[in-house]
Amino acid sequence: MITANTVAEVRAQVKQWKKEGKTIGLVPTMGYLHEGHASLMKRAREENDIVVVSIFVNPIQFGPTEDLASYPRDFHRDSEVCQRMGVDLIFHPDPEGMYQENFCTYVDMDVLTEQLCGKSRPTHFRGVQTVVSKLFHIAAPDRAYFGEKDAQQLAVIRRMARDLNFDIEIVGCPIVREEDGLAKSSRNAYLNQEERQAALVLSRSIREGKRLIEGGETDAAAVKASMRSIIASEPLARIDYVEIVDGDSLQPMDTINGLVLGAVAVYIGKTRLIDNTGFIEG
Ligand code: AMP
Repeated sequence: MITANTVAEVRAQVKQWKKEGKTIGLVPTMGYLHEGHASLMKRAREENDIVVVSIFVNPIQFGPTEDLASYPRDFHRDSEVCQRMGVDLIFHPDPEGMYQENFCTYVDMDVLTEQLCGKSRPTHFRGVQTVVSKLFHIAAPDRAYFGEKDAQQLAVIRRMARDLNFDIEIVGCPIVREEDGLAKSSRNAYLNQEERQAALVLSRSIREGKRLIEGGETDAAAVKASMRSIIASEPLARIDYVEIVDGDSLQPMDTINGLVLGAVAVYIGKTRLIDNTGFIEG
């Protein structure tokens, strides 16, 4: 397994692989890897000759009051996970290597980034789209793997790839959960024991929303009220949003009909966690 810290190293290696006719699967991550990330690597391993994983805590996708400085990092352990998953190359740049002095070019999007996490994190998706575009240009993958855990991100990247003609297949992978239902996340490391228990309200409310939608409930307000009441029962939880949106436009809907996404963002203490139903038919 190769560890590359610079864009030039990745480019040279990718050029060689392309010459040999090899297909490349890219898994972009911010590190502190868990089984959710590993599931993306496994899928990439199955579908490509070469698997590239990027590990980069991308500063421009964090707001000024967010957790950039405290975001958990453990490159040594991440490297072991990648080795175990049969990764060929880890791209682990430093921020200065990705954003040279006077960097001022961004990729942005309307509509899909207006709601859900875009509301409370107004510059987040611009940062995500910009770094993912850069990674697409650097690693030149045939396929790129993203988790449904970040359903809005997946929808945004799919749309960006389509709109900007990236010749890359965007592959969405199901949410990997802990045994008790909590969606795996690097940010779960912030939770103390009591908060870890309280965090179960996210998956419980998502399960309930999914049950109601799949059971034929078409009144979005009724579904949201049931989901909210589960979260409100937990004193350590504070709702950022509970939303049912159209699966294509990610705009809120009153009457559930066709492909939809139920999604929540909840603060458990100081930690903001997200979960969603996946894109389901209502
Ligand atoms: P992150 O390191 O949190 O930026 O995540 C990197 C990629 O892993 C993103 O595409 C995430 O959606 C995906 N991911 C994170 N957690 C999970 C999970 N629990 N299940 C599946 N994919 C995940």
